[in-house]
Amino acid sequence: MKAVVYEAFSVPPKIQQVPDPTPEAHGVVVKVMATGVCRSDWHGWVGHDPDIELPHVPGHELAGIVEAVGKDVRKWRVGDRVTVPFVGGCGTCPECYSGNQQVCDSQFQPGFTHWGSFAQYVAIHQADTNLVALPETLDFATAASLGCRFVTSFRAVVDQGKASAGQWVAVHGCGGVGLSAIMIANAVGANVVAIDISQEKLQLARELGAIATVNAAEVANVPEAVIEVTRGGAHVSLDALGHPSTCFNSISNLRKRGKHVQVGLMLAENSTPAIPMSKVIAHELEILGSHGMQAYRYGAMLDMIQTGKLTPEKLIGKTIDLEQSIEALMGMDRFQGVGVTVVTEF
Ligand SMILES: [Zn+2]
Ligand SMILES: [Zn+2]
Repeated sequence: MKAVVYEAFSVPPKIQQVPDPTPEAHGVVVKVMATGVCRSDWHGWVGHDPDIELPHVPGHELAGIVEAVGKDVRKWRVGDRVTVPFVGGCGTCPECYSGNQQVCDSQFQPGFTHWGSFAQYVAIHQADTNLVALPETLDFATAASLGCRFVTSFRAVVDQGKASAGQWVAVHGCGGVGLSAIMIANAVGANVVAIDISQEKLQLARELGAIATVNAAEVANVPEAVIEVTRGGAHVSLDALGHPSTCFNSISNLRKRGKHVQVGLMLAENSTPAIPMSKVIAHELEILGSHGMQAYRYGAMLDMIQTGKLTPEKLIGKTIDLEQSIEALMGMDRFQGVGVTVVTEF
């Protein structure tokens, strides 16, 4: 098969012919019909992820058609239209038994712990635990765009932040994660304030449901600006970028007993950011993470998509082919594109 392969970190990947994957007994091979390009792929490519062994094929936001099925798989057949959370569970550890496959003790991540979906085919383990059936009406590009940023945002806003109607939700950073979170928070009835340094992204944030915006490049103090807009601070605030300054601002702009959810990844030199812990104590703040979402929770999100309450297709910036994915991957640290880039031609 054709795949995007890198043989060293930070060296441009190349399209190569590599052997087709075969399914494990409990796994499947999926013919990739669409795969998103994500900043996590960039982190992996530059060497921030200790799971990656070289040579490597990136890609973890995928949707496709089951091509081959292992002998122990019960629920899936060749031809099924599927997607998969970016964190796969083993199905047999205490976290999986408690329903928290997103933090499985023996988790796998296509594109990190094994070869991913910047390829014509990808192997997925423990298919009965991890595959998600796609509704016929959901196209592959949109389904792929859910894979990491959208589901992580859904879990962050709905399951971790528990944002509800009438609450203020602040979203710091309006890339793929942030725009997803804005759409989801708006859909559950929260009032959303979006924060970014790009007027273009803030405009898109408004179109997706933000009722107020703060341009962080134009105000002297971002938390004060958010507290003013929200008349006392956000009930739930997300760092959707993953940077010490947006993390600090997100915690600082909470009202008492508010929840900060860290969604953007904090890696390498950003992995131990300063946080205003005195405020966490005095105001009884909560600090939470969001690490993908369990396959069984996709149902609620897919229902909201099918009923038109969520429209993730609006977040797709452009569709490209496998060759173009190389440039797109290497450029993911520059925050240039608006919306999610999806590879749809292999
Ligand atoms: Zn597990
Ligand atoms: Zn991703």
